[in-house]
Amino acid sequence: MTLLAEPVRRDGVWQGVEADRSWAQEIDALKKQRNAVILAHNYQIPEIQDIADFTGDSLALSRKAAETDADVIVFCGVHFMAESAKILSPNKTVLIPDQDAGCSLADSITAEQLREWKAEHPGAVVVSYVNTTAEVKALTDICCTSSNAVDVVASIDPEREVLFCPDQFLGAHVKRETGRDNIRIWAGECHVHAGISAQHLAEQAQEHPDADLYIHPECGCANSAIYLSGEGIIDRERVHMLSTGGMLEHARTTQQDKVLVATEVGMLHQLRGAAPEVDFQPVNDRASCKYMKMITPAALLRCLREGKDEVDVPAHIADKARASLEAMISIGEPGGGE
Ligand code: SF4
Repeated sequence: MTLLAEPVRRDGVWQGVEADRSWAQEIDALKKQRNAVILAHNYQIPEIQDIADFTGDSLALSRKAAETDADVIVFCGVHFMAESAKILSPNKTVLIPDQDAGCSLADSITAEQLREWKAEHPGAVVVSYVNTTAEVKALTDICCTSSNAVDVVASIDPEREVLFCPDQFLGAHVKRETGRDNIRIWAGECHVHAGISAQHLAEQAQEHPDADLYIHPECGCANSAIYLSGEGIIDRERVHMLSTGGMLEHARTTQQDKVLVATEVGMLHQLRGAAPEVDFQPVNDRASCKYMKMITPAALLRCLREGKDEVDVPAHIADKARASLEAMISIGEPGGGE
């Protein structure tokens, strides 16, 4: 085996290692030594997706990892995702290749802010999207994913007020679909999804009049897609509001030649692999999450060599956070969220 270059920390990112054959061999050998399973989120770079044991969306990956007999879970994604893996597998070691890989959406609401919001609305039911920290999940009654957010809110007594956080676009989608007035929505957003605007969508839809549209409900353009289809500017049949897992399922059976995709660009690698005959194009080709891209080949190598960075969630927080995830799972198939 050729000796690989040493990972170096430069500009806040692990760098200096090529994702070549020697790298893949060393990753594989280290993985076996540690009895580790490598999970990669759909927004990871293709090299990381291709070397992972499982690729998918955050919750589906955590549930899958909990079922394996691996001692170590290496989560190639952002920090809250690794926390969810730890919550569902408290007896396994969970590693993230770079603990600074955060999430602007999860950072939209802190535990302190949620505590204050709850105090202002006693008796309300708190529904949180899975893109939240473990501490926020621990203060939540029921978690939700983008696949089941509507069902989760619909399952709550219509007389009870609902506090929905942190994503305002997903919240607006849920409010519209359930027709519920007593839902308060936190004004959080993901900077990547919010950057996929109505203008991008309208331009692309007009340029490609025969293409289907796959839209993640977190996108800034989600509301405009509904509006544009209501106005007859986009054919309603062309608009599909889907989680990342839902996009893959749809891709496998679509009869369309071309599909426009409104979510983070990393998703295109999985879609093109699932349906090579379909032309998948991004609605905004600059919609790339810098946090997801912090998981570089160098970061993964260092992670497996040194057993870093370990992610832990204190038991009293993990137990409560697990209860809010389990409350969601008991309502129905959660799909995978982002
Ligand atoms: S794409 Fe947005 S929601 Fe997803 S991890 Fe990045 S910042 Fe968070």
